Order: sequence, then C-alpha cells, then structure tokens
Amino acid sequence: MQIEFERVCETLRQAPRRWAVTGAAGFIGSHLVENLLGLGQTVVGLDNFSTGSEKNLAAVRDIVGAEAWGRFSFIRGDIRELADCRAAVKGADHILHQAALASVPRSIDDPVSCTQVNVDGFVNIAVAAREAGVSRIVYASSSSVYGDAPELPKVEEKIGAPLSPYALSKLINEQYAEVFSKVYGLKFIGLRYFNIFGPRQSLDGPYAAVLPCWVRALMAEKPCEIYGDGETSRDFCFVTNAVQANILGACCQNDAAFGQAYNVAVGVRTSLNELYRVITDELGAALGREFPAEPQYLDFRVGDIRHSLASIERAKTLLGYAPQVLIGEGIKRYVAALVAEQRR
Ligand code: NAD
Repeated sequence: MQIEFERVCETLRQAPRRWAVTGAAGFIGSHLVENLLGLGQTVVGLDNFSTGSEKNLAAVRDIVGAEAWGRFSFIRGDIRELADCRAAVKGADHILHQAALASVPRSIDDPVSCTQVNVDGFVNIAVAAREAGVSRIVYASSSSVYGDAPELPKVEEKIGAPLSPYALSKLINEQYAEVFSKVYGLKFIGLRYFNIFGPRQSLDGPYAAVLPCWVRALMAEKPCEIYGDGETSRDFCFVTNAVQANILGACCQNDAAFGQAYNVAVGVRTSLNELYRVITDELGAALGREFPAEPQYLDFRVGDIRHSLASIERAKTLLGYAPQVLIGEGIKRYVAALVAEQRR
C-alpha cells in the first residue's frame, strides 16, 4: 500500500500541479504546504491567521528553502468572503480545504462564529471551485461526527448524533458535499481526522489539544493534568499520515472513492496514561530532565467520550492509505521539533 503513496508522489514530481490549500498557516495546512512544495508543486495558501500564524509559514519557508518557497503564494483572506475563495482557487488543479475553527469547546462558547466559518466557508469554497472549474475537493471533516455512537472501532457508515456545534458543522460539510456532488457534479473526499498531532500544532490558548497542553505544562515544569483516571483512550495520528491521506485523496483515480468520508487515523488506541509515559520519557531524555511518574488526575470532564478508535479499512481499500508513522515515532519527531524550536 505504501507503494501507492510513493507512486502518487513520483507522478506529482514528474508533472507538478497547482494546489490551493485553505488554512495554510495552521497546523495541518502548513504541513500540506511543506510537503507539496517538497514535491515540486505550486501552492496557493489562504488563511486569515485567526488560529494559524505567520510563524508556521516562516518555519515552512526555512525547511523547504528558497527555490521551493518561490512556488508558494499566500492570500491573507477569509473563507467567509467568496471573493477571497475565488482568488485562492483560481487556476488550481486541486483544493485541500482545511480552514475552520477547529475546536469543540470553542464552538460551544461561540456557535455563531463556528457556523459562519465552518459551514458558510465550506459552501464558499465549493461554489468558488465550481465557478473555477475545479472539480475535486478534499476537505477536513472530523472524528467528532461520530458523536454519541458507542461502537468501536468507528466505521464510516455508523455515525451517531453530534454532540457540539463543531461536530454538527463538520457533519453539515459532509452533507453539503453529497448535495453539491449531485447537483453540480463536484467530486469530494472528506477526511475524518482523529487526534492529529505534530510540530506546529498550537501550544497556546485555551483551546489547545491534549498533547500540546501537556507539552506546554511539562516544559514550564507545571503539573500535567488528565481528566479522569487516564484510561481514556484515543487514536493518535501523526500529521504526516494526514498529509498522505490528503495527497492520495486529491490524486485518486478510483471513481468509487469520491463522495465518501474516510477515517484518517492509525487504527490503534493509546490510553492517556500510556501517552503520558511516552511523552515524559521522550521529553525527559531530550531535555535531560525527570518528570513526575504520574500526572495530576482531575474529575472526568462532562461530554468527553471514553474511547476512540478508527477503522481505517475504507481509506486503505479505496485510497491506498497506509499510515507511515506510528505513535512512538510520531512522539519522537514531535518532541525533537519542539526542543529544536526552543533552542533556536
Ligand atoms: P488550525 O487551527 O491549526 O488550522 C486551521 C486554520 O484555518 C488556521 O490557520 C486558521 O487561521 C484558519 N482559519 C480559520 N478560520 C478562517 C477563515 N475564516 N478564513 C481563512 N482561514 C481561516 O487547526 P488544524 O488542527 O490544522 O485543523 C485543520 C482542519 O482539520 C480543520 O478543518 C479542523 O477542523 C480539522 N480537524 C483537525 C483535527 C486535529 O486533530 N488537528 C481533528 C479533526 C479535524
């Protein structure tokens, strides 16, 4: 299966294309930009820096070097503005739509912004794509669409009721994708990301994901907090696997693959206690420090689901997806990048 991704990358190197990446200054978006430029592609990024940053783009520039960076152009704009979406997708062969307000608690605090960005923004990108004659759109959905469904592992056809405005916004994206493919003939691939982690994931702010929160706490020699007994588990997925899924989705030749959503994960679940051990070992070795053997346990948080685990069979079968980096190696790379950044 790995061969499929290598084959696709080789095809892209031989015949470079033009890509529009929304949310380019964010965590996942900046990795897409980095990898596409590394493959010799031309990339247009769109972002309004609401949660992404110029620092992320500067990091990509430093990694890819001047020649590759010359193939990148950036539009500071907002997906809520149709004109900005039109400018970004003009002339594109592929669209990777990542821009969103990407947080469950944030969506509960501010459902209006969540809906305007995640739903209206999605519609704008699809409409702009259609006008520009770009028929394929890969977009970021989320494992949150599984909502209250209890089954494990999560299989794409069995979703539950959404539990937050954020989850609902992603479900609505999937429904719009279905409708727009019927009425306009657009071809969509939805990617239901599970807990994606890696360098450039935001460490700041009240809405940071669990791993960056812990790293921030550990680096500041503060206690690391776990809600519940630590046996809560997640399917943690290193960001390069998400990059692979996007590129495979965009270049897919299999007609049966369009109009569907795919779990993007590793297919292995790790408890928060295990994660704590791995991250304190890695960070401890890298910084020459000892961290407490146990985190600080707090009460369970209302609304948190106990376990999450993906079946990745659909992505394997229809897209040729094969996660390359498992959690141990992913944490190693993540910690190495954070430590290097801290020393700069
Ligand atoms: P992120 O916050 O780092 O990236 C989102 C980017 O979108 C940011 O750069 C932000 O500035 C930009 N953006 C937000 N509103 C915008 C607007 N109105 N116009 C233009 N740009 C705007 O988050 P991420 O983790 O990289 O998430 C990328 C996508 O993946 C999102 O759609 C998110 O919902 C989805 N997702 C992420 C995860 C994960 O584990 N990271 C899990 C499930 C789904």
